[in-house]
Amino acid sequence: MPWFKRQSGELDATGEKKVRTEGLWVKCEHCRQIIWKKDLDANLHVCTKCQHHFPMGAKLRLELLLDGSYVEHDADMSSTDPLKFTGTKVYATQLKDAQRKLGMKDAVLTAEGFLNGQPLVCCAMEFQFIGGSMGAVVGEKVTRAIELAMEKRLPLVIVSASSGARMMEGTISLMQLAKVSAALARMDEVRLPFISVLTDPTTGGVTASYAMLGDINIAEPGALIGFAGPRVIEQTIRQKLPKGFQTSEFLLEHGFLDAVVHRKDLKAYISSALDFFLA
Ligand SMILES: [Zn+2]
Repeated sequence: MPWFKRQSGELDATGEKKVRTEGLWVKCEHCRQIIWKKDLDANLHVCTKCQHHFPMGAKLRLELLLDGSYVEHDADMSSTDPLKFTGTKVYATQLKDAQRKLGMKDAVLTAEGFLNGQPLVCCAMEFQFIGGSMGAVVGEKVTRAIELAMEKRLPLVIVSASSGARMMEGTISLMQLAKVSAALARMDEVRLPFISVLTDPTTGGVTASYAMLGDINIAEPGALIGFAGPRVIEQTIRQKLPKGFQTSEFLLEHGFLDAVVHRKDLKAYISSALDFFLA
């Protein structure tokens, strides 16, 4: 007599269990509580117990910030893999996998829409797409979004989530830092507002270019924001880093950010900031 007996019909033809419970519950990495996924979704992907902000995809982000429908721009722009790069993985395969999985061609969505009735251009980065890294496509799409904003005299909001420059595109990815920054400088000259929203995580070349160039720079609570990682810094300066280093709250305290805003207040905050700038 076996201790455990498999019910007949529990396995389907592929040998996989039919009873699926995975995906219904999520463990919060901050408070380690188990949350019902539906509750998490209904709460804008913020932990219902400790307010930890879970990462949010680019599409959801645009839905959160924009009123109803919006027009996406340059949706078909895709990397040409200029270096035919192969590292631990083949870059071309990595691109194809990410494109299939996420239904987008690269790591940023650029859109024209309305935020509480105010027309604007809004970009949202997708961290799940090769770490939200910035290659030629992200740089070009963001630059075009800035140029569109200037052409139509609209304000710009960029929501960042990125590991930095896309190393598989080598120096071409680094050139994007300068290109986007130059476009933002032109936008500044024609006196149009740019609000930068930093989310978890925003690091590397994106922090070193547009994410910190906003007329105001705001972040979600508890987000990791920095240039190099803490271990690299500790090894370089041979000092122990303070607690909470590279979090939104630490950066706000040290003057690198203008505000830390809860996700549920983000739209209202951006709306009133735009009212202020455009008055
Ligand atoms: Zn939690």
